[in-house]
Amino acid sequence: MRHLTLTAALCALTATPALAQDARELSFESTELRGGVVMLVTNAAGNLAVLPGEDGVLLVDDQLPGTGPQVEAAIAMHAEDGVPRFILNTHWHGDHTGSNAHFAAQGTTVVAHDNIRVRLADAEDAWAQDGQILPLLTFGHDITFHMNGQTIEVMHVPHAHTDGDAFVYFREADVLHMGDVMFNQRFPYIDLGSGGSVDGYLAAMSMALEMAGDETQIIPGHGPLATRADIENSIVMLTAARELVRAEVEAGLTLDEILAADPLAGLTEEWSWGFICTPRMTALLYNDLNGSTETWPDGMTCG
Ligand SMILES: [Zn+2]
Repeated sequence: MRHLTLTAALCALTATPALAQDARELSFESTELRGGVVMLVTNAAGNLAVLPGEDGVLLVDDQLPGTGPQVEAAIAMHAEDGVPRFILNTHWHGDHTGSNAHFAAQGTTVVAHDNIRVRLADAEDAWAQDGQILPLLTFGHDITFHMNGQTIEVMHVPHAHTDGDAFVYFREADVLHMGDVMFNQRFPYIDLGSGGSVDGYLAAMSMALEMAGDETQIIPGHGPLATRADIENSIVMLTAARELVRAEVEAGLTLDEILAADPLAGLTEEWSWGFICTPRMTALLYNDLNGSTETWPDGMTCG
């Protein structure tokens, strides 16, 4: 469970300087998808996509702070050079932007939504203090890469996991990286403090559902390679979970009373996990319904 705790720490922006400087040993599992796209899953944090080829490497997300050399070695297993030409960040959390500075120092251009640059620049966490972590190139709504025989469409989805999320669609390959707007087969983390919202998260997942066909290979931010059916399941679950919590809110219960009543008990076995356990999911839904920007109460842990 150690890796889940680490992800939690970074996603919740409670990373300590010790964590930020610590070069953790990662193991990488590669899956070759259509069109030359490679999905890299690690034992630690967010999933990566690599598109190697004669135009250079495009990398989507780049893991935890301090892991740059390991990410570089993993890319080099699939490309002539482990240093990408471009990195695209799907959002600003440290487990998706942690190697930006490592690669920028070697000439990589980091590309991201406008709000990612703002949030990284404002972050007080030790891992975000290297100026080279900031994207050189930012966009407001969308941007398209034309590399290695692929048209790669990057689209901002507003107020979903954060306020700076983007989907990355490899058109010819029919591969979609959803960033953390998809936690496959587990409760999602919706960062209310970074501009995320349950409405936006559901709207973005519905948009992915419209984009995806039955054959589309879907890279979630966390969890195993997904299909359109997995997105449908996540939408059904999150919609139902919110209604269960809403009923308790409308009955006038406080958060403590709702946690005691445990309205999501029936979802726990299938969806609860080390970072977003049922009490955190319940609190997140409660706070979203009440317009709070605190994702869950300070100190709430998953035991
Ligand atoms: Zn995240």
